[in-house]
Order: sequence, then structure tokens, then C-alpha cells
Amino acid sequence: MLAPYVRVGFQDGVLFLGFGSIRRPVHDQALWEPLLRLADHFRAPRTRAEARSFLDGNCEGGVLRADAVMRLLEDGNHLIPARTYDPADRYSRHALFYELSGADAVEVQIRLARSRVVLLGCGGIGGLVAVTLATAGVGELVLVDADHVELSNLTRQFLFTEADIGLPKAEVLARELRRRNRACRVLPVVREVRDWEDLESLPACDLLVVSADSPGLTGTVNAHCIRSGTPWMNACYVNDIAVWGPLVVPGTTGCWDCRPLTVRAPEGGCELASLMGRINDRYQAPSNGPVNMLASSLAALDVLRYLGGFGPPSSLNRRVGVWSHDLTLDEQGAERDPACPTCADAVPLCEGVR
Ligand SMILES: [Zn+2]
Repeated sequence: MLAPYVRVGFQDGVLFLGFGSIRRPVHDQALWEPLLRLADHFRAPRTRAEARSFLDGNCEGGVLRADAVMRLLEDGNHLIPARTYDPADRYSRHALFYELSGADAVEVQIRLARSRVVLLGCGGIGGLVAVTLATAGVGELVLVDADHVELSNLTRQFLFTEADIGLPKAEVLARELRRRNRACRVLPVVREVRDWEDLESLPACDLLVVSADSPGLTGTVNAHCIRSGTPWMNACYVNDIAVWGPLVVPGTTGCWDCRPLTVRAPEGGCELASLMGRINDRYQAPSNGPVNMLASSLAALDVLRYLGGFGPPSSLNRRVGVWSHDLTLDEQGAERDPACPTCADAVPLCEGVR
């Protein structure tokens, strides 16, 4: 049937079929009426044979023109299986989004329901990624954070309220996620994660998201994930830049160590190192609600794309940043280095990049 997200209209004397990224111009005026008649015919579920029969009686100009009209509708994800869209289903609008991306929405939803994600960090980014995944139907979330809710968190950690101040973030977040989707199994873990042993004690998962700012944690997580064959991604802000990726798929994509992605402190105890240490020790991020939302929403979309398989994540083999003040896109290549000390020997996962 015709996807509910299809719209048609004229602009500058041209008929446009579709809406958003699938919008296509139809310049040949001879196709306009049969195309619109066929689209109207497909408002109800039809078989291909029914559509051909309909075209025979409604499309002058022979088989070639009828073929062109059918192709226009079939290309560009304008037609979807009739079973896909039930307006009353809780995931129905997401189902349309998956179909728009060319995926089978039923299969995407099943894959999400079978997925488990571990989130290291339940603050401004982790909390918003978590609620996006839970409400999208991801089956299980493990929320890891040792912090407690503070008054200064409330500008961006929107699932916490003034009444939650002093309570463990992971437990409050778990409570809020259960309120929003009972089908999502949520496990709060109120604990610091600093080293290899801490990481090994967490449940195995399909993907791990890091939004915690402990010094050196990303390198430790990367090494652990490469060793255990666990895909992972970082999401954060660099002052006023919303940043996500790379989404590391061990044995397939580049990892955190393949290319230098962030500045690093000099080795040893030289004078410069000590000066830099003193300056950096006083760093406090100017965390901002909209920048947190930007990073977390685009990171969550990549997580859903990877788990659900409705298109390639935007952060495979690259770290992406959006400058909040002028919307410049900042990209750092993170392709695989065959000589990388961390991932050179990693073998692809069974399913590879979904
Ligand atoms: Zn590597």
C-alpha cells in the first residue's frame, strides 16, 4: 500500500512525488495523471497484479508508460507492506521511519527487542540516550553510574526532578524508564567503573555507550571491547560542540586507538607535563541542555540504526561533531589502522556491521 508518509504536490511547474529525503521530481507531464491515479489506488492494500490491471484501464500510452509509473512508486520506498502500519501500535510512527529508510519495520522492532545495551554514565547524555532507546523498544538497558542527582544537573538531565536530589542517578533513571516502557528491562548499577575488572563485572551486551568523563576511561573501554568483541561508541560534548562516535565494531571498523582522536598528556614527569596537569585539573565543562540533546539524539539514532539494521550509522569509522554556535560539521576520520596496537588482531564479529 501507499506509505502514509508519501505526499505529492507541484512546485515551479514540476510534480514532486514523496516528502523529505525521498522526494523526487516528475518532469514528464504524461505521467502525472496515471501516477496520481495509481497512488490513489494504493491507498488501500493492493497486489501487484491488481495494480497492473488498474493501470491497464487507467494509463494510456502502453506498457512502457505503465512500467514507468509503477517504477516511480516502487522506487524510493513509497510502497510498504500493508501489515507494517497499525496507527494504534505504540511503535507505529517509528515503523514508518524504518520503512522510509528501506528496512522491514517488523524485523527492526524484533531486533531492537532482542538487544541489550550497557550505558556507562547516566548524566545529560547517558540519560537522554537511555530514554530514547527504552521508548524505541530496546529490550534491556544496564545503567551504570555512581553519582547522585545534584541541583546543578537539572539544566540538562531532564528525567530528574528537584525531588530526586541526593538519590542515585542510575536508580532514578531506571524508575523513569520503567514508567515509560514496561517492556524494557532495566538494571541500575550504582558503582564506579574505572578499570578492566569493573568492566568485566558488567553483563555482556550488544553495544556499550560511554558518556562518562572519567580520565582514561575511553581507552580502557576500547581495549576491553576489542578483546571481548563488543561494539561500543562514545557520546559527549567538547565544551560547545556536540560529539558522537566513532561507533567501534571490533574487527570491522577503526577503533579508538587507530588514530589519535583527542589531545593526550605528554609522557613522564617533565615540567611541561606538570604545568599542563595543573591547568587541566581545574577544568569544568560548560555543559548546556541543548548541546547535550544534540549529541545524545544523534548518538541514539546511530545506536538504533546499528541494533535495528535500518541503515548505516553515521559514526562508523569517524568521530562527528556539530558546532552548536554555527552548525559546522566537524569530522575526524577513524578508519582502521592495520598496525593498530589494540585492534590489529581483532576478527570480525559473526554478524559484522548490520
Ligand atoms: Zn584500532
